[in-house]
Amino acid sequence: MISAIFILVSTVVVIYVIRPLFGSQEKTQSRKVGRKRQLLETRESLYDSIKELDFDYRMGKVEEDDYKATRSRYQAQAVELMKEIDQNNGRAESSQDKIEQEIAALRGSLSKKRDNKKSCSNCSSPAPATARFCPQCGQAI
Ligand SMILES: [Zn+2]
Repeated sequence: MISAIFILVSTVVVIYVIRPLFGSQEKTQSRKVGRKRQLLETRESLYDSIKELDFDYRMGKVEEDDYKATRSRYQAQAVELMKEIDQNNGRAESSQDKIEQEIAALRGSLSKKRDNKKSCSNCSSPAPATARFCPQCGQAI
């Protein structure tokens, strides 16, 4: 029950934090890129808040009960953010992999083409990469 309330509260807080940023950037950026940047920015500010809280606690400015309660709230928010960032990254990485595969395929076909232009050491006429003898003069390649 308590954790359910935590999730609810932190979700509302996260939405509240993200929404104004989202609204202003939506017009100029693509949804996905803007969303990811906001998530990272929100995470940064959340980490800053945690650092400040830790600092205040070490300085004796915050009561231990308050510190623990606030910190666990921040952590719950961070966990939710990380989940969403991971999901975004997953998509980003899979498209990145696709690009890498396409580049590798392109590279492979290029090197095959280059290999096809093997030439005879005797008459220097072109021969296929798989040829063992020159098609022109019969010289072993
Ligand atoms: Zn030859």
